[in-house]
Amino acid sequence: MLDDMFDYVKEIRDRPVWQPIPDNLRASVQYELPRKPSDLADVHRTFMQDILPYSVGNVHPGFMGWVHGGGTPVGMLAEMLSAGLNANLGGRDQMPIEIERQVVAWVRELFHFPSEASGVFVTGTSMANFMGVLVARTGASGPQVGRTGIAAEGQRLVGYTSEDAHVSVLRAFDMSGIGADALRRVPVNARHEMDTDILARLIERDRASGNRPFLVVGTAGSVDTGAIDDLGAIADISSTEKLWFHVDGAYGALGMLSPKIAPRLVGIERADSLAFDFHKWGQVPYDAGFLLVRDGALHRSTFATSAAYLVRQDVGMAAGSPWPCDLGPDLSRSFRALKTWFTIKVYGADSIGAVISRTCELAQYMEERIELSRDLELLAPVSLNVVCFGYRCEDPNRTNVEITAAIQESGIAAPSTTTVAGRTAIRAAIVNHRTTRADIDGLLDAVVSFGNVHAVRRRKSS
Ligand SMILES: *Cc1c(COP(=O)(O)O)cnc(C)c1O
Repeated sequence: MLDDMFDYVKEIRDRPVWQPIPDNLRASVQYELPRKPSDLADVHRTFMQDILPYSVGNVHPGFMGWVHGGGTPVGMLAEMLSAGLNANLGGRDQMPIEIERQVVAWVRELFHFPSEASGVFVTGTSMANFMGVLVARTGASGPQVGRTGIAAEGQRLVGYTSEDAHVSVLRAFDMSGIGADALRRVPVNARHEMDTDILARLIERDRASGNRPFLVVGTAGSVDTGAIDDLGAIADISSTEKLWFHVDGAYGALGMLSPKIAPRLVGIERADSLAFDFHKWGQVPYDAGFLLVRDGALHRSTFATSAAYLVRQDVGMAAGSPWPCDLGPDLSRSFRALKTWFTIKVYGADSIGAVISRTCELAQYMEERIELSRDLELLAPVSLNVVCFGYRCEDPNRTNVEITAAIQESGIAAPSTTTVAGRTAIRAAIVNHRTTRADIDGLLDAVVSFGNVHAVRRRKSS
């Protein structure tokens, strides 16, 4: 099995990035609960034949859809060790938790957070954003809010984020009971960054109408265009207005590892809480999300419980409090820290930073090629590693969707689409450490040739 997976990674370029699942195959995995044992080798064969070839393909260097990490063999091996150990990282006195604490300390160091800051691994930034909103709510209303609920608050809590913020911020407001309507969407400027003058005006307006502003969520690397909000300006406004400053740095925050990107993240060190993923730019296999909170005591007071069977002691296995289960809703948790620790130790943080810089250089190369092409147009400024562009034609919105699907089905590459200022763009997010200029060329050439075919077909049919 290990050899198969080494081969998979090594020979990934020989495969299509993605291929549609044949109907009969989809049907073949639907059968009744197997009550009798099967041969391990048979089940493994089924995996190799029926599952492995039909995953989304983000290990492949031609994968540039959404924001997906590429993973590494080191991360894969660490996952094997972690599964073998089967440690439950909810708590108790064990070395795996010390490893998680070690990674927390590295994260604190990287983002210049104080020693009282707390951190915890979670599934992903969607969860970390949700937890960040909950800690902010505790900060605004006090720890009793967990019992009384926000309905007991006299005033309506309201928060702010940019129009280009990730949908998980909206969902965090929904799931926390604060309500998605209480999240103001601040317009963005031409660079797709939150307009902080409008932010200040919206806060003022809310105060005047009796609402209670409590939180601003800044974005470090937006999904649509890779824009980084002016984190310093948001930090200033948050501190004068006494608001919680949360940063959604899902993929962008680890730009701190790149000497070229780090200066653009100035202000991130002033966040009250920061959500990000090691499984995107950090190249750690899924899942490895992270939440960092400046005020560790407040973080604990948001989530810690007092169940009798979880009581802490100074000796024995129940020692070593606080435990990770005090820092989030999960009790049983996997050893996500191990694959992250292995990745950082084996490759070194600087080489992860170099990968991050290189993906941004590839995005610039792609931007240059698009600007030189008669057939292609750039649809958003290239800020980091995300390029939004399109094929020039009469009906670009529909054509760009069709070209994207055709390229995905061809297996050559895997871009996705998004809407920028009302226009449908083909979107390439370069995250994978395996991606090279040749992969960028492959994608652009495919867009042009599929676009040309499409244009000829339309001319004939009209
Ligand atoms: C990916 C992403 C998220 C969601 O993170 P998950 O790990 O997928 O839950 C949130 N915000 C931004 C900006 C993202 O890129």
